[in-house]
Amino acid sequence: MEHTANIAIVGGGIGGLAAALALHQRGFRCTVYEQASQLTGVGGGLNLSPNALKTFRMLGVEEEVIAAGFQDEFQSLRNGETGALIARQSRREGVMEKYGAPFLTVHRADVQDDLRKHLPDGILQLGKNCVSVENTENNAWVTFADGSTVEADAVIGADGIHSAVRDSVFGVQPPRFTGCICFRGLVPVSAVEGIPEAKNMTAWWGPAGHVVHYRVRGGDQVNFVAHRDSDAWTGESSTQKCSRQEVLDSFAGWNPDLLKLIALGERHYKWALYDREPLKQWGRGRITLLGDAVHPMLPYLGQGAAMALEDACILARLLGQSSGDIENALRRYEDIRRPRTTQVVLASRARATQYHLKSPLARMWRDVKLALRSRFGRDKTTLQADWVYHYDVTAAPLDRPSGLDSTE
Ligand SMILES: Cc1cc2nc3c(=O)[nH]c(=O)nc-3n(C[C@H](O)[C@H](O)[C@H](O)COP(=O)(O)OP(=O)(O)OC[C@H]3O[C@@H](n4cnc5c(N)ncnc54)[C@H](O)[C@@H]3O)c2cc1C
Repeated sequence: MEHTANIAIVGGGIGGLAAALALHQRGFRCTVYEQASQLTGVGGGLNLSPNALKTFRMLGVEEEVIAAGFQDEFQSLRNGETGALIARQSRREGVMEKYGAPFLTVHRADVQDDLRKHLPDGILQLGKNCVSVENTENNAWVTFADGSTVEADAVIGADGIHSAVRDSVFGVQPPRFTGCICFRGLVPVSAVEGIPEAKNMTAWWGPAGHVVHYRVRGGDQVNFVAHRDSDAWTGESSTQKCSRQEVLDSFAGWNPDLLKLIALGERHYKWALYDREPLKQWGRGRITLLGDAVHPMLPYLGQGAAMALEDACILARLLGQSSGDIENALRRYEDIRRPRTTQVVLASRARATQYHLKSPLARMWRDVKLALRSRFGRDKTTLQADWVYHYDVTAAPLDRPSGLDSTE
């Protein structure tokens, strides 16, 4: 169906591009305004769960994303210091039957490319830095740093954790420093030959930190992300380089094989992790938000990009059946998405406590419970996140959850 509405999307990250594709497929005219002069997909790897893969299916890019990524046989959980195996769970066997889609690890740039190449030329405008947005009686406006403005029937703020759209609608509210920093890097898989476990998806839990590594780029590179409780660094840029030695010093005393892998990183980056108290209101009038612009979260459930993708798909479904009542569709979208994303933000925070326990006794007790559950439990998964993975954007009901007032 051809829709006459014209939608302005601020931000060309994974959430903004997915929204553009889903809306374009429903016949909307839309434009993505991205501040950067080129899309680089900074930030390395993404661990994508079945609920994220189901969004790619709805967008018609699932096969391409799978081809660019890597599917591990297992994920192992090890003690970060001794290397002892705590639990191992299958990433493949029974996964399709249980969740309806696979797990995948992929480079962020590959996902952005797969989304972008399905968009017609001209939809993505680079070098457009939004400074403010405004509702008027019958439409909404976006103003850019270069002084230009655009008028649209709806504006979607998909402009990340420092969203100018959110600030413009609700005032500036700084995000919350979580007390965690992370380091990341990529290593060619050919370089890790002989390092036990380096090629396999593994999470290493130690005191006050954890490290995860997995393969991306069709399996050719190993992506590692090393998390540490620390307030020694609060910079949020995901392109801030640091020295190899700084990372190794932060993980002194950890398993030597893990440190060998980290040392092989071609470049090392560090950034501080922020999230936000869940917002009660996501939009006003013809303006709404999606992804990190509204619910940035700790990456400990691997759900930030997945939630941005789900937001984009649900928003497009609702606008697609809105018959012109855009404001009502936006409020319904916010009411539907708020409870789930709030639950995921809070669950991701709770994982920080669980993963980064300091007391040796508490860690031992946690590891024994996990080991027993992974061998004998009914749900053998270490993350216990079935409620996240089962969600299917194409089947999810579009009724407003009962008892909700959209102005709450
Ligand atoms: C260490 C780490 C690991 C992670 N791992 C995972 C994982 O394994 N799985 C997962 O699902 N998620 C993961 N995430 C979370 C995920 O990266 C984010 O949640 C996701 O990228 C959010 O997408 P987005 O499109 O909402 O925002 P962003 O990716 O931040 O994109 C926002 C875009 O808007 C642009 N922009 C910003 N301001 C303006 C402006 N004023 N005008 C115009 N454009 C603007 C930016 O340049 C950017 O392109 C991880 C995050 C971190 C920090």
